[in-house]
Amino acid sequence: MAKSNSKQHTIGREVWCEGVGLHSGANVALKLYPAPPNFGIRFKRYDTPGQPPIVAHPWRVVDTVLATSIGVNGVVVATIEHLMAALMGCGVDNVLVEVGGSEIPIVDGSAAPYVDLLTEAGRRAQNASRPCIRVTRPFVVKEGDAYIKALPAQRMELHYVIDFPHPLVGRQEMSWTFDPASFRRDIAQARTFGFLKDVQRLQRMGLALGGSLSNAVVFDEEGVLNREGFRFSDECVRHKILDFLGDLALGGVGLVGRFEAYKAGHSLHNRFIKELITREAAARETIPAMLAPPFMGPASIPGLMDPFPGLGKPL
Ligand SMILES: [Zn+2]
Repeated sequence: MAKSNSKQHTIGREVWCEGVGLHSGANVALKLYPAPPNFGIRFKRYDTPGQPPIVAHPWRVVDTVLATSIGVNGVVVATIEHLMAALMGCGVDNVLVEVGGSEIPIVDGSAAPYVDLLTEAGRRAQNASRPCIRVTRPFVVKEGDAYIKALPAQRMELHYVIDFPHPLVGRQEMSWTFDPASFRRDIAQARTFGFLKDVQRLQRMGLALGGSLSNAVVFDEEGVLNREGFRFSDECVRHKILDFLGDLALGGVGLVGRFEAYKAGHSLHNRFIKELITREAAARETIPAMLAPPFMGPASIPGLMDPFPGLGKPL
């Protein structure tokens, strides 16, 4: 496990916002609090008895259909990926997220409102370095014809290919090198997207109840329903890079490597970050506590112990 030159950061002060959940349609408030070094990102549902803290971690993911959801003992926080992407994109490592419902507000369907919230909060360097995983050997994870490849590189590079049989989407491809300014400008503003027939089907199933043209790009058979059109001509693939970054952020570490995704989604993103951590752990024979909670799968990883003994105590 390489130590990066970067320091860990938390936010300068507490901030809050509110909005509807994409799938529940319920209005929820969300508050972000500064947190100590090595705390990571933890969620707390203050509307639940006992308010169990839920650590943002790849092995805490309980659902990847439509969005990334984490949970512990049946208490779930859904649709965390855009907030997670904003935190990683803005270089924030340690934050307590309190949320008053089962889903993070979808806001405008992008990560830009969370970038604004984090900008309002400010950022404070902490006296601890950010751990980092550097890819040294290529590998690939697959699911049907979808795959994600890891390759060695000097920085964190994401490459994404999507292919939807729609006249305004089709095949889109993008390469992006991690950079906070470019994240704000090129990635954070890309909105989630969906197809009208899927939205109608989901709503019959009681999902996407908060979905509207104010928080998603929606396509019908030929065109886009949003009067304002796209924010970028290739907004869809940019949003996939945003989702990928958010799902990688669950690793809680800096990443150095080139990650090439082809027609992937939240499920494959999650399998990929788990594979990356498992390989790193096997190569090092040990792993920092913040990466290896006891619920992590492989029993072969030595030194596993509860890295979060302070969970549940006030800061
Ligand atoms: Zn998304």
